[in-house]
Formats: sequence, structure tokens, C-alpha cells
Amino acid sequence: MTLLRTLLWFVLLAVAMIAAVWLAQRPGLVTIQWQGWRLDTSVGVLMVAVVVLCVAAALLYRLWRGLKGAPSSVFDIWGEARRRKGYRALTQGMVAVAAGDGAEAQRQARLAEKLLEEPPLTRLLSAQAAQLAGDRDAAQRYFAAMLDDPHMSFLGLRGLLMQSLKDGDSSKALAYAEQAFQRRPDTPWVVRSLFDMQARAGKWREAQETLQVGLKRKIVEPERGRVLSALLLVERSRAAERGGADQDAMDHAKAAIALAPEREPVVYRYAELLIKRGEGRKAMKAIERAWPAAPHPDLAQLYLAAVADKDPLKRVQALTKLTSNNPDDLDSRIALARECLEARLWGQARRHLETAGAERPDAPTRLCRLMADLEEQEYGDGEKVRRWLARAADSPGDRQWRCRSCGAVHDRWLAVCGSCGAFGTSEWRMPPPTPQAIAAAAATSTLQPGPTQEILPPEPATDAKPPTAAAASS
Ligand SMILES: [Zn+2]
Repeated sequence: MTLLRTLLWFVLLAVAMIAAVWLAQRPGLVTIQWQGWRLDTSVGVLMVAVVVLCVAAALLYRLWRGLKGAPSSVFDIWGEARRRKGYRALTQGMVAVAAGDGAEAQRQARLAEKLLEEPPLTRLLSAQAAQLAGDRDAAQRYFAAMLDDPHMSFLGLRGLLMQSLKDGDSSKALAYAEQAFQRRPDTPWVVRSLFDMQARAGKWREAQETLQVGLKRKIVEPERGRVLSALLLVERSRAAERGGADQDAMDHAKAAIALAPEREPVVYRYAELLIKRGEGRKAMKAIERAWPAAPHPDLAQLYLAAVADKDPLKRVQALTKLTSNNPDDLDSRIALARECLEARLWGQARRHLETAGAERPDAPTRLCRLMADLEEQEYGDGEKVRRWLARAADSPGDRQWRCRSCGAVHDRWLAVCGSCGAFGTSEWRMPPPTPQAIAAAAATSTLQPGPTQEILPPEPATDAKPPTAAAASS
């Protein structure tokens, strides 16, 4: 480059010299007359004067350009420093959000907002900071402002959705989830949120459609999807029945049982409708099939309703048949013991209760209560009754409908948890083990002879041992 430029200079110099020599060889005079002025000079001098003027003009122009450009470069440096400060505030604000320091996050957000004129960047921080500091309205404002920016609108929707969930405003949350789904139907949290909101709002059919999208896009596991579909159908069946559409109710229940014949709410719904139609035998078959996987007192009661026999002995017989596929389960024993008590079969009732573990220190509540009933009915032994009731009160618990998500207990199966709003999380199971129980289990599992006797709660009723003669006689 420089070589080329040097060469160019030489060429120019040569041209200038040739021109000078050419002019020197052809002398001439120039006379300029203007407004009473007169200038006499040679052609050479005039040429040199013209060249000098041109160079001077070029130099002046460059100087002027330089001066004109100078202030902007000063501004540039200043603006750069300002931006750098702004980004630092943004970063520190984000760190404060991560650390949960709402006040600091808000301070940095304000600084960043002032220094950086880039609302998309600072709005998110401002919104999060406001949320963290508990300034609900400000957060709402920032998130809503994001909706106008095509690049930020999705983030804004997410913020508004979370905000309405926090406020417990389900209908607003559903509207935001629908908007988010329209924009990005592939995003897992969008599909999940929309499903949750639809289920919470009792929009079972819509929830089913969303679930299908989730399954197709592999956002929902197939196994979980199968159960959720069946539970949605149970709710659709109920809704149809309430609306007087009995055939639809049955169709949904049938579809549900085809999907998940091992789920208690599904079997219950199907059998309940069959009994209503007078198809008791079919209902019994469905409950018998489900019992090994889903033993439950409500199903036992429904089974007895299908049997439709008032004779207590016949009822015991029916339950013996029902539980024969899963005889050792807690609910099999409890169902049988209850019916034996009704039939005054004390010995059999006692056998079922004891086999189920009424004698164990961690006996479930229902076993203790039934033992109290038994002592009351068979012997009228007030002292034993009192002890069993005391033990029931101390019992670590029993199988109940528990929400897998929040742990809330409900007295019946609920599609949507009344406490946390999750769909399909209700499970019939024992309470989670207490820390004492875990410690006791750990102590028994070690190889050294541990102090297990001290850790286990003492037997409350030592004289509650079965009078075996009475059991045999009944
Ligand atoms: Zn819950």
C-alpha cells in the first residue's frame, strides 16, 4: 500500500516537474484587470499560486472536518462510560435478584434504567426486582410494558402469568397461559401451565387437547399422560351426568376404564354408572379386576351395593371373594373386619385386624378404631376400648387421599387438589414416615445391635392380646 502511494507521489512529482519545465520553456505574461486593479505576472507564478491556493483550501477543509467531528467523539467516550456503568448496574441487579435482595435489586434496576436507554434489557430486571421487593403493582406494570415489544412479549406474559398465579387469580392466569401457548406451543412450561390452568378451571375437554399436544411433543411422559387422560375422562363423565347426558357420561367412563383400569377413581366412576343402570354384575367384575392394584374402602362399599344383599353373612362372603386376589392388603383386611363386625363374627374380625397389624406399635388409625369397636361389641370392655382409642390418637396415621404435590389430605378423591390446585395428584396412601420412624428404621437396619427397643414407642395395651379361645369359638 505504502509502496503504491510512494510511487504515486513520484509520478505526481515528475508530472509537476515536466509541467514546470514546459511552462519555463514557454514564457508568457498574464494581466488581470478587475475593478480598477491590475495584476501583471508570469504564467508560471500564476500556476504556482493556483496550486498553493488549492492545497491551502484542501488543508482548511480537513481542519474544519476535524473540528466538526471532535465533539461527537468526546460524546462517544462519555456515552461509552455511561453504558459501561449501566451494564454494571444491570449485572449487579441480576446478582441481587439471584441473592433475593429486593431493595438492592431495585436500586440497581433504577440505575441501569437511567444509564442504559434499552428498555428491553432493563425492564425485566426492574420487574423482577419489584416482584422481589413485594411491589406487585410495579412488577405488573413492567411486565405489561414488555407485551408491546415483540421480542419481550413472551417474557412479559410469563411474568404476568406467574404474578396472577401468586395472586390466586386463576382466570387471569388461564388467559395469559392461552396467549403464551398461541405464541410458543412447543415450550414445556407453557404446555404444563396451560394444562394446569384448564384443569383448575374445570375445562376438561380443553385440558385433554392440551395434554395431547404435550404427549405429541414429548413434554408429558406417556405413562403419566395415560393416567391423566383417564382422570380427565372421569371428570368429563361427571360433568356429562350433571348435564343430564347419561350416555356421554357412560362413554367417557368406558374410555377412562380402557385407559386406566387400575385407578380407583376410574373404576369407581365406571362401576357407579353401571350400578345406576342396573348392571351390578358388570360393576362387580370391574371392581374385582381393580382390587389387586387399587384396594379402597369406597370400592368395597360400591361392591356391596352391587351385590345388593342385606344378609350380613352374604356380604362377608362377597367381600371374601372380592379380596381373594389381594387378601393381605390393609384395605382387604379392614373391609373384611368391618363386615365381620356387622355380621357379629367377632373371631374373624379379630383375626383380620391382628393379621393386618393391629398389634404393631405403628398400627394405622382405622385398625385401632376397629379394635375398639370389637372390644366394645364383643366384651363391652370400657378400659380396653379407651386404650385402643388412645392408641388410635397416637397412631402415625393411615391411608388417606394425599396430594403428591403439596401433601394436603382430603376426605375424598379430588381431581384438582383443593389446597395447591394440582390436577391428578391425589393418591391413596400412608403418610410419609416421621423423622422418628426413619431413625428407628435406620437403627434396625444397622448391623450392630442398636437401641431399637428404646426408639420404638412402647406397646400401649399389653393386655390387648387376643383371647384366642374367644376367637376360635366365634
Ligand atoms: Zn396439593
